[in-house]
Amino acid sequence: MKTIDLRSDTVTRPTPEMREAMMKAPVGDDVFEDDPTVNELQAKVAGMFGVEAALFVPSGSMGNQVCLYTHSKPGYELICDDNAHIDWYEVAAPAALSRLLMRPIPSNGGVPDPDLIEAAIRPVNIHSPETGIISVENTHNRHGGVIVPLAIMRRIAAIGAKHNVKCHLDGARIWNAHAATGVPLADWVVGFDSVSVCFSKGLGAPIGSAILGTREFVTRARRTRKMFGGGMRQVGIIAAAAIWAIDHQLPKLGEDHRRARRLAEQIARVPGVRLIPDPPPTNIVVIDVSERKIDTEKALARMKEQGVLIVPFGPGRLRAVANRDVDDDAIEVAAEVIRKTLAA
Ligand SMILES: *Cc1c(COP(=O)(O)O)cnc(C)c1O
Repeated sequence: MKTIDLRSDTVTRPTPEMREAMMKAPVGDDVFEDDPTVNELQAKVAGMFGVEAALFVPSGSMGNQVCLYTHSKPGYELICDDNAHIDWYEVAAPAALSRLLMRPIPSNGGVPDPDLIEAAIRPVNIHSPETGIISVENTHNRHGGVIVPLAIMRRIAAIGAKHNVKCHLDGARIWNAHAATGVPLADWVVGFDSVSVCFSKGLGAPIGSAILGTREFVTRARRTRKMFGGGMRQVGIIAAAAIWAIDHQLPKLGEDHRRARRLAEQIARVPGVRLIPDPPPTNIVVIDVSERKIDTEKALARMKEQGVLIVPFGPGRLRAVANRDVDDDAIEVAAEVIRKTLAA
């Protein structure tokens, strides 16, 4: 029995062609900025997003944390939404590494309310912490891959500029927002002071992220990356996989979205099962089974016995993520297994 792994879009394995590209990549010492493949990747990504510069980093978490550190001083306050990856899944790094105070505020199902953000910016006086950074996540993981609309992105960037607060985009899956809407990548980052993007999610590279910004910002971020232990040497071997992923997988991301919708449609046939949101806007399917009062641990174990892997996602919730390694036929099989298990 072949395992159908829908736990995340990070579970994909490099294709033979990707490995071939890795094998052939010219390399150098990237700490000396000497690796031609890394330099090619950085120039390519900067060009795609219409920014001055990009920096290759080992992970999305390091990308976010290098940006936060580079923008901040200890004691600065960081505004983010209360389900943000940087708050939930980065091991308190904003506090531990940058000594930031977190100010998580509610969103509308993953779409931030610019008025709430503006209201959360501290007055300038001797008592208050200084608001240093606003962070936005797009697409939004914990809110089921929701796309933060372009108009909201623009309003938040304008608020940051007006109050002299840096805006950071956790764009691990900004590729999916682009694929789902057709809005060019460069449009999503207008007015943002830093951005992190992942190559190892839907694009399917084994490792790697990039941070984007002005040349001046990226020069400072390069020092932060070195301090965090993220200076790498002949890493063109990995960057080659990211280049391959952009060229070959980015144009196909829409297939993941179509498969996520198909999966969702089948699962939602079970009475008392809800999708959040319905239909899934991108590649993430969040399934709310709380009305069915089933034991989710047992349900997941039964799915696993039948070769289908999905993850628990908070009380009464499960998450399945369409990814390159799960094709149309496998989606049908998984949909059947999940539907029958939840209906039992
Ligand atoms: C995956 C992800 C990251 C990066 O996580 P890593 O585990 O470091 O790769 C950052 N932000 C969001 C929203 C993510 O989904």
